[in-house]
Amino acid sequence: MTVARDKYDLDAFYINGEWRNQKTSGDTVDIVNPANADVIGRVTLGTAAHVDEAASAAKAAFKTFQMTSRAERIDYLEKILAGYRSRYDDFVEAICLEMGAPITLSREVQAYTGIEHLESTIQALKNIELTESCSGYSLYHEPIGVCGLITPWNWPISQLVAKVAPAIAAGCTMVVKPSEFSCLSAQLFAEVIDHADLPKGVFNLVYGQGPTVGSAISHHPDIDMVSFTGSTRAGIAVAQAAATNVKRVCQELGGKSPMILTEGIDLEAVVPECVWLCMENTGQSCNAGTRLLVPEDLHDEVVEIARRTALSYVVGDPSDEETQLGPMANQTQFEKVMGILKDAASDGVKPILGGPMPEPSGASGYYIQPTIFAGLSRDHMLAKEEIFGPVLVVIPYKDIEEAIAIANDTQYGLSSYVYASTEHTAENISRRMKSGMVHINGAPLVAEAPFGGYKQSGNGREWGRYGIYEFLEVKAVMKIS
Ligand code: NAD
Repeated sequence: MTVARDKYDLDAFYINGEWRNQKTSGDTVDIVNPANADVIGRVTLGTAAHVDEAASAAKAAFKTFQMTSRAERIDYLEKILAGYRSRYDDFVEAICLEMGAPITLSREVQAYTGIEHLESTIQALKNIELTESCSGYSLYHEPIGVCGLITPWNWPISQLVAKVAPAIAAGCTMVVKPSEFSCLSAQLFAEVIDHADLPKGVFNLVYGQGPTVGSAISHHPDIDMVSFTGSTRAGIAVAQAAATNVKRVCQELGGKSPMILTEGIDLEAVVPECVWLCMENTGQSCNAGTRLLVPEDLHDEVVEIARRTALSYVVGDPSDEETQLGPMANQTQFEKVMGILKDAASDGVKPILGGPMPEPSGASGYYIQPTIFAGLSRDHMLAKEEIFGPVLVVIPYKDIEEAIAIANDTQYGLSSYVYASTEHTAENISRRMKSGMVHINGAPLVAEAPFGGYKQSGNGREWGRYGIYEFLEVKAVMKIS
């Protein structure tokens, strides 16, 4: 894949069913290919005034869109799904370019999540109960109104579609702000929406940065709820801003997910799986398994298998079909992870593999080698904080009580991974995990199951039926029977 320099110029926002050109209106940010640090385009950044325009279009559209039938909304979602499928290869290329996802990961997983979310939302909308008859009253689940959707760059299309599809399913209208680092896939998705004949003003897209456009969305009096995915830091800022007019905020935030290995499992099969759970997407997944908790007596064996596994990865150009790990998605994230690794090195903490890399120069991209730390105390910063890079920490435990205590000793609670020789043991451990999701013996995510966390991993639940509930209000109508 060869991309001409300056190929992409995203200089228009999608507002009220049309592309409104903003060329003259303001600041831009470069679109940088993290594989080689090449500037491949630019994005015009919006302001609070653009959010006003978009919110006003969404507010006007809500008057009629909230009245659409379930069948009509299914029809819109089916059209979006067909459009998405027809541009599939473009999504694959965009995700690879904008955040360095290896082309195979982009094709088989990242881009595919768009289809999964649309399909599972359509299925959920077919089955969800929107009215309930109870003794003395009826319940109506009604669209909440105008929604602000703010998304990050790490699974760019997954997070966008996991919000837009259920918002449409619920009958809401929206102002969308993707991450300023991942506008290519958002632009394509808006083009798909544009061809789906959605009523004007239902979907509005404004590019921009968090403190300006994101903050304007969070404060906006005409926006009724915000669905936010990103860091815990920004999630808190959004909730504080939204509190000024008591809008609901659904937060999908960071993680530091534990993987508990127990005695009697096949380490040669399980450990490589766990290393991948950490390193996939170059460690930039909110639900990545980043803490590997192992019985003391198995520690050294596990570390050796983990080291061998991580060494075998093909790290490099994401456009190459053989590549398993691409670069960090952008310079900011590269510098953040490098800073953490350098601080650890200057504190005398040595990884058993990887570690700080030379700074990129010339045509080199933002690469960090898979890095593994072992023998750290459970209280070490590397074992507690979200790093969001290809960094695995192996922590030994004495008995299963201690493993559970270590697993839960974190501000986060997104995912947990449990490996045990019997399902009964794994199930018992899973019931004690303080996390929104638990995977037993390598079971994968299910698109219909609620995705979300406990504690500072957020308060929202996305995907399937629960994803639609996020965009619904509940009204109780009392009746004399
Ligand atoms: P980020 O918080 O920096 O940015 C996320 C989005 O929020 C971007 O669109 C950004 O512009 C916007 N933003 C930033 N500051 C804001 C503010 N003050 N007000 C309003 N909006 C603001 O996160 P990121 O670096 O893009 O993504 C990585 C983070 O996202 C990680 O912490 C990761 O764990 C988390 N994440 C969570 C989930 C989940 O479902 N729980 C999924 C993916 C990523």
